[in-house]
Formats: sequence, C-alpha cells, structure tokens
Amino acid sequence: MSSKALFNEFRRMIGWENVFTDIEDLATYAYDAAVLNPVVPVVVLRPRSSEALGQAVQLCNENQLPITVRGSGTNLSGGTIPSQGGAVIVTNGLNRILEINEQDLFAVVQPGVITARLAAAVEKQNLFYPPDPGSQAVSTIGGNVAENAGGLRGLKYGVTSDYVMGLQFFDTNGKLVKTGSKTVKCATGYNLTGLMVGSEGTLGVFDEITLKLIPPPAHHKAMLAVFDHMSKASETVSAIIAGHIVPATLEFMDNFTIRAVEDYSRAGLPVDATALLLIEVDGHPAQVEEEAHKVELICKKLGAESIKVAENAQERNKVWEARRGALSALAKLKPTLILEDATVPRSKIPTMVAAIQRISEKYRIDIGTFGHAGDGNLHPTILTDNRDKAEWTRVEAAIDAIFEEALSMGGTLSGEHGTGLAKSKFLEKETSPGTILFSKLIKTALDPNNILNPGKIIGP
Ligand SMILES: Cc1cc2nc3c(=O)[nH]c(=O)nc-3n(C[C@H](O)[C@H](O)[C@H](O)COP(=O)(O)OP(=O)(O)OC[C@H]3O[C@@H](n4cnc5c(N)ncnc54)[C@H](O)[C@@H]3O)c2cc1C
Repeated sequence: MSSKALFNEFRRMIGWENVFTDIEDLATYAYDAAVLNPVVPVVVLRPRSSEALGQAVQLCNENQLPITVRGSGTNLSGGTIPSQGGAVIVTNGLNRILEINEQDLFAVVQPGVITARLAAAVEKQNLFYPPDPGSQAVSTIGGNVAENAGGLRGLKYGVTSDYVMGLQFFDTNGKLVKTGSKTVKCATGYNLTGLMVGSEGTLGVFDEITLKLIPPPAHHKAMLAVFDHMSKASETVSAIIAGHIVPATLEFMDNFTIRAVEDYSRAGLPVDATALLLIEVDGHPAQVEEEAHKVELICKKLGAESIKVAENAQERNKVWEARRGALSALAKLKPTLILEDATVPRSKIPTMVAAIQRISEKYRIDIGTFGHAGDGNLHPTILTDNRDKAEWTRVEAAIDAIFEEALSMGGTLSGEHGTGLAKSKFLEKETSPGTILFSKLIKTALDPNNILNPGKIIGP
C-alpha cells in the first residue's frame, strides 16, 4: 500500500481528525525527555477508543510500519523517540478512569490517564495510589507501567509493578490479550503481567490497566535535616535503614541542587547546607511519633547541624514541591541536562555519593545530585551544553564511569527510568549474553516483524 493510501486507511478507521502527517505536527513527536538525536515519524495516530487503538496496531503490522507508543513523552531513556520512523501512537485520547472500586480496592484506567489525576480521584474516595514519579503532573499511567516508574514513595510503598493487578493490551497483530485479575491473588497461567510491566512498548500496547489501591496513611510527619558534610548525610541514610525504620520518603539533595532549587522556588531551603535529607514517616499517629523521634536521634547522632519538622500541611507541601522542582531548577542552569538513575544497594549510598563527587572533579563537569537515597536510587544530574564537543566527550566518559561505579557496587543501570535507547548498549554489562539472547527470543516470538518500538531495550 502506498503511504498516501495507508494514511487514508488510518483516517477511515480512526477518524480524519486523529491522523497527523504535517511536518509541524510530526516534529513535535520526534523527541522525548532524553538527550538523544530526534527522529521524525511519518505519521502520528491519536486513537480515541479501544477499538481504534487495536485497529491502528493491526494496520501498522500488516504494513510493517514501526510503532512507537507515546504517553506524555517524559521518559528519560529515549523510549519514545521513533528511532526507525514509522508511526507514533499517542494515547492521550484514551484518558478515562473506568472504575474506582472502593470495596475491592482497585481502579481500572485507560493508558492515557495522567498519574496525578488518578491519585487525586482515588484520594477523593479516601483511597491511596502511592507511585508518585516526580513527573506525575504530566506522565501517564500507560507510560508509568511501561517504564515500571518509581517515585518519592518507592522506599516504603514500592514502584508501579507493585500495583499492577492486570492488563489488557494489544499484541503486535492487534489482538486483545488479558492478563492478571481483579483478585488479590492470581496464580493462573504465566505471569504475563510481570513480563509486560517495564516492557517499554516493545511487546504490546496497553489498552486498560487494573491497579491496586490501598487505604491512605492516617498521619505523616515531614522533616528536613541539614548537614555540613556529604558523608554525614549519606551515612545517616544507611543508619536510618539499618535502624529498621522505613520512612515513606527519604530524599537527598547536595549543595549544588539546594542552591538551584532555592533560586527557582524560594522554598526557604538553607543554601549554605552541604547536603539535606528530606524525610517523611507515615502511618498510625503513635507509630509516626515514635519513628520521627528515632529518625531525629539518628540524624543528631550522625552529625546533623539542625532538624526542622514541618509544623503544618503548608510547610510540608512547600518542602515536597521544592523537591519535585529539583529537575526543573537544575534544567535552568545550562542548555543540556542529563538525569541518570544508576542505583546501588542502600548501604552503598555513602560510597556512591563520594564516587559521583570524584567523577565530577575528574571530568570537570557540573553534577548536581539529588534523589531517592532511601532506596539507593540517586539522580546524578549532569549539566552541560551538548554543542560543546570537548565537554561532551568528557560527559560521555563521566556517564560510563557512573555506570561502572554503580555496577561495581552490585547496583543497576536504572532504578526507574528504563533502558530505552539510552542504556541498551550497556545492558550486557549488567546482565549476561544469555540474558540478552533470552530477551531477544521473547521479542522475536511475540513481535516477529519487529514493529513494536524497535531498537529499544535490547538494541537493533
Ligand atoms: C521532571 C521529570 C521527573 C521525573 N521523575 C521520575 C520519577 O521520580 N520516577 C520515575 O520512575 N520516572 C521519572 N521520570 C521519567 C518519566 O516521567 C517516567 O518514565 C514516566 O513513567 C513516563 O511516562 P509518560 O507518560 O511520559 O511515558 P512516555 O515517555 O510517553 O513513554 C514511556 C515508555 O512507555 C511506552 N508506553 C507509553 N504508553 C504505552 C502504552 N499504552 N502501551 C505500551 N507502552 C507504552 C513508550 O513506548 C515508552 O517506551 C521523570 C521525568 C521527568 C521529565
């Protein structure tokens, strides 16, 4: 079929207003939040019903047109760059919350629902959906599931995979596949839900997602601990975990990030602090008081200069808004920002923080470090200008060095941002040739024409 005939077939199937072929429209879908070369797709499809989504996938497959599914394009690993051209299928027209079940504690949503919208909708019914990526005001549930997104509450509440009970997705032929169940337990068949979560659009296109909800914590307390030395802050993280306290949130910020955030949000952060820990404990009021007290003692013992407890909801929100604004604050400083998420076992946080400092000095590049220290997931954020070729070479070497350090400590290349295009070349370093072969066999069996997000995760 010629391109013109194919585009008209798409228009007939999913509606004229949902098929985009003008360069002005296409260019918008050539990139995402990763720093990689943009690639313009040949067509963008915006199905508005489940049926239209399935038909779009089927027609792409019949014409061997590569598909890049896209939620909001906020991923940081190049997962939505249509690296082989083809079609981008954008899911923001599939944005209905289909059910919130208060009795059985689950929600059923379409993939284009914005994460924060779901969280707010369940909160109104006194329920809780914990996964909260820093991008939650923009990211979609489909994108969260495909990346197995984490967030600030990962330490206590886990990541997206801990909440996916079942999926409905289109396979490469446009056939509907259902996995999982709405029951608390399900041991029927293969664990296909587990295979699909984190599959980054390479094995199927999500159409409906069933998510576990939980009761919200009754009480919470947020604290801000100030340190005059990086090692004191990072050792405090390890000591809190070793003390068997599991805060809902345990975030780290270095001085570079503190200054950028304060300049950006005027949240009242102490700009002279070498490092900050932002800590929140939650649960039953008595437990919260006890844990908050223990956390304070540990912070003091390990040399915190001061500890401030948020007195009210306004103060608490201010702290968390400041933290959520860290990436935007750093992004203002230089033209190019690369946010890494190499993750280490929690006891290795002090070693990793020191390694990042050494790498920053060795390669003479600015790195702001913040992140989910409590679960070992720091975000060393490199600030550069990718037009400066000499500096860019050093940046690439620094990224390699960060990965090497994390792997040497028994860590992982990505705690939450996925592999995409950005990290596929490093995959074998963390896994094994056998893992790559096994993954390729799965991909080939499920997508023989290699049209579902080709080139991502396992490479070409
Ligand atoms: C400021 C900022 C803060 C961030 N903070 C965090 C954080 O704290 N934690 C974290 O984990 N990530 C974070 N991220 C990364 C990003 O927001 C997450 O990866 C998020 O899950 C992506 O959602 P999205 O809707 O933008 O998906 P997209 O970027 O559009 O897509 C991501 C992947 O999902 C696939 N996909 C999308 N929809 C579907 C579907 N329906 N079916 C199958 N595959 C699909 C795509 O093909 C792609 O591979 C942050 C990003 C930014 C810019």
